Amino acid sequence: MKSHRILRQLLKENPEIDRLMREANDKEAAVEAMRQWITPYFEKNPHAMAYYSNRENGREAFDKLSWSDYGAIRLMDYIQNAGRIFEDLNLRGDLVGSNPIKYLWMAAKHGTGGANQHFFYDTLMLFRQIKGTLKRKMPDRQQLQEWMDRHPSGLDEEIMKIRKHNRDRIIKVIIEKIEAGELKSRRYQFGEGMSPEQKFLLASNWWKDTNFHLKFAIRSPKMLNEMLNNSLSTKTMELLHEAREAGLPSFVNPYYLSLLNVSEPGFAIGSDLAIRDYVIYSKQLIKEFGQIVAWEMEDIIEPGKPNAAGWILPTIHNLHRRYPEVAIMIPDTVGRACGGLCVSCQRMYDFQSGHLNFNLDKLKPKETWPQKLQKLMDYFEEDTQLRDILITGGDALMSSDKSMQTILQAVYEMAMRKKESNRNLPEGKKIAEITRVRLGTRLPVFLPQRITKELIAILADFEQKGTQAGIKQFVIQT
Ligand code: SF4
Repeated sequence: MKSHRILRQLLKENPEIDRLMREANDKEAAVEAMRQWITPYFEKNPHAMAYYSNRENGREAFDKLSWSDYGAIRLMDYIQNAGRIFEDLNLRGDLVGSNPIKYLWMAAKHGTGGANQHFFYDTLMLFRQIKGTLKRKMPDRQQLQEWMDRHPSGLDEEIMKIRKHNRDRIIKVIIEKIEAGELKSRRYQFGEGMSPEQKFLLASNWWKDTNFHLKFAIRSPKMLNEMLNNSLSTKTMELLHEAREAGLPSFVNPYYLSLLNVSEPGFAIGSDLAIRDYVIYSKQLIKEFGQIVAWEMEDIIEPGKPNAAGWILPTIHNLHRRYPEVAIMIPDTVGRACGGLCVSCQRMYDFQSGHLNFNLDKLKPKETWPQKLQKLMDYFEEDTQLRDILITGGDALMSSDKSMQTILQAVYEMAMRKKESNRNLPEGKKIAEITRVRLGTRLPVFLPQRITKELIAILADFEQKGTQAGIKQFVIQT
């Protein structure tokens, strides 16, 4: 068995570990023996222990660490945390223990004992790292390029041709559905007597418009299959129906769908898989949806009570905060939706509870939003430690230009007030100013049509005047 073979190699390369593990009568003694084994390393490299025990920290201390130090610190962390029990939110709160040394002890003493080949391989590499026989190998630029070149890119001529073909096919289906009355819109309709060519030309023009894609986003498995030329297998369709029954929202805009191929020439087989996996949900996600617990304890917010990181927040659904310097702001706008639902979304918890969703009309800002925005700005203004605001959602750029402008203007004015009030404060009493604003968005991928001249002008204006308010970095974070 592979795991036995790796284990034998591990023990052969580390006879002292082999002896220590065999001599230990129980797992506690094994952990203690391992501590004795690694202690001389830290005596010889006190900076590594100083970093591990947080006596020294910061960039300079980190830069002093060697590749072997990383390994030694990792082993020490195993030792220090051996036997601790954690609630695993991946397992719906089941308790799991952490004790890698126990597995090593069981393996040396009784065979492989509960661990798999990957654990033994990892441990073999860990000891090589600590002893310096495994050197760190960073890929160079050329190597990275070679890896990237293994996959076709969206900028390859051939891929562009396939995608144009996909787009034309989807446009034709949309035209048919508009004519059949299956898709209805006051904005997107054809005039009397238009020829098929004229309709195609008009719809091709609509394709450049964000609203067209949001209006005709596909929300049902049946429509999805039709748009994909009925190419989805029975198994995939079953999966999509199951997802629907489990309450998983479906929202795929026509542009994003045009990145999925219905037939592929040999060179491009599987080239759309990463994109496809965002649309076709996995069995595991479907099973878990509805049971997903908040990943970050700080995301559980109750009115008037501090969250797990100790922050009392001014509103329940508009702010997340874990660190003193950073706040995550979620506006009550269409920004609570996204251009599609990513299977890997960390916010699945919020989608599940409906705080993030795809009901675009209902998400339009309500009368209470300006007051809430003011409340958030007051909170930011009074905060003495905050430097970085991440505006997200959902997806920050799903907000309309008007909403985006209002939010950015409010942030700018707040940052300006902070800067000015700092002027009157004596040294030692000055508060942190806002130095970075980030927009969390995936729309450059989901729906690049959203990046319009008008939007760029709004962003450029904020970037330019933001510098006067001390905002040194304005970042689009995808
Ligand atoms: S765009 Fe972001 S928030 Fe929206 S589904 Fe994808 S990962 Fe989640």
